Amino acid sequence: MCAVNYEEEYIRKTRRSAEMFAESAKLHVRGVSHNIRYYEPYPFVVRSSSGSQLLDVDGNSYTDYWMGHWSLVLGHRPRSIAQALHEQIDYGWMYGTVNQQTLKLSKLIADSVPAAEKIRYTASGTEATMYAARLARSHTGRNVVAKIDGGWHGYASDLLKSVNWPFDGSESTGLVGDERIVSVPYNDLEGTVGILAEHRDDLAGIIVEPVLGGGGCIPATGEYLAGVQEFVHGCDSLFILDEIVTGFRFRYGCLYPTMSLDPDVVTLGKIVGGGMPIGVICGTEEVMSNADDTRLERSYVGGGTFSANPASMIAGSSTLAYLKNNDGVIYPKINGMGHRAREGLAGAFGDKAVVSGAGSLFMVHFARSGSPLRTEITNATQAAMCDRGLLYKYNLKMIAQDGIFVLPGKLGAISGEHDVSDVDKMIGSAEEFRRNEMGAGA
Ligand code: PMP
Repeated sequence: MCAVNYEEEYIRKTRRSAEMFAESAKLHVRGVSHNIRYYEPYPFVVRSSSGSQLLDVDGNSYTDYWMGHWSLVLGHRPRSIAQALHEQIDYGWMYGTVNQQTLKLSKLIADSVPAAEKIRYTASGTEATMYAARLARSHTGRNVVAKIDGGWHGYASDLLKSVNWPFDGSESTGLVGDERIVSVPYNDLEGTVGILAEHRDDLAGIIVEPVLGGGGCIPATGEYLAGVQEFVHGCDSLFILDEIVTGFRFRYGCLYPTMSLDPDVVTLGKIVGGGMPIGVICGTEEVMSNADDTRLERSYVGGGTFSANPASMIAGSSTLAYLKNNDGVIYPKINGMGHRAREGLAGAFGDKAVVSGAGSLFMVHFARSGSPLRTEITNATQAAMCDRGLLYKYNLKMIAQDGIFVLPGKLGAISGEHDVSDVDKMIGSAEEFRRNEMGAGA
């Protein structure tokens, strides 16, 4: 075992990034515009991207598994999307009007997402989930919206509760009415129904991710989701699926049709914008009709200067068209590499870590020394109990020594631009980390 100072190695190879990040910190709070993009000692500064690679201002390249907050399922600037965007630039990139580019994307979504009888666009996933919560309240005339412990739906005030362990404190100052958000344990049907039942008369709906993303890359079981859906529908409340991470990630379409679920509202984002800003609220005709502003009792849903802007619509429709035409190739490819990554990382870390995920998503959870061995991570509490310090160290080693970028502390996503040798290199890096940091025979 030899102690390696990854931070020193990192600082040595990212001197220009350090200078630029110091400038950034003068201009932006903590140097960033999204809290999760900061990590110690400072994030490298990106100059450009291509395929599976990010290039920083010092000339280092990184095989990227962060992939634009997991939005880039086809990799960085894939040729067909770049071409469609270039062509669109000549026709204009912002209209603020009804446009034909939106129809293209909406037809693709309506054909592949059964709940999408009606659609509205926003510029971010945060807005989409905010509107979904509002729709649930408008539709039912009730107040309480339930979410999952560790569920992340963006920073919208309506859902900004129980994101970080211990999932009971306030997430932010400046919030009003967060007592109207209740939080339930993931993959624990009895526990969830017990809490929902306490609010049954005032329950507007529940919002759930079919794979907890920010909460630790944890798939829900089909029984859990079906049981929750049955209960909320039995209360005449809405079942809202947040497929902003999972939509078009595992298959062409959403994950939920593989589980025989029947959500009232589905939110999409990330992949369906092809790397351009987007959020989508899809819902049944009946629920979405609340958004008709000519109604006396309307629910304001949508709005936003950049909603359905032609650049996002074109990047999104080109991405979905590509995925549709190549779904027999791309999904087996990325899901297969995801499987290889999870198996390989689990093999490298042995009893020192659990590797969670599904399809092309993966995340390592290190056991805390002295804590009992887990074989599975099924909720965000278990994920939060793992050794986060060791995870950051491992992630920094990958960046500093191996040119591999998983945003520290987050899950990794494989794109169509990765190949098996990238995955094997990541597994090799894990084996080395275990040898150096955890003892050869450990
Ligand atoms: N829902 C989920 C499940 C997400 O993972 C995210 C973002 N990571 C959001 C909503 C918010 O989307 P955005 O960052 O585009 O506002």
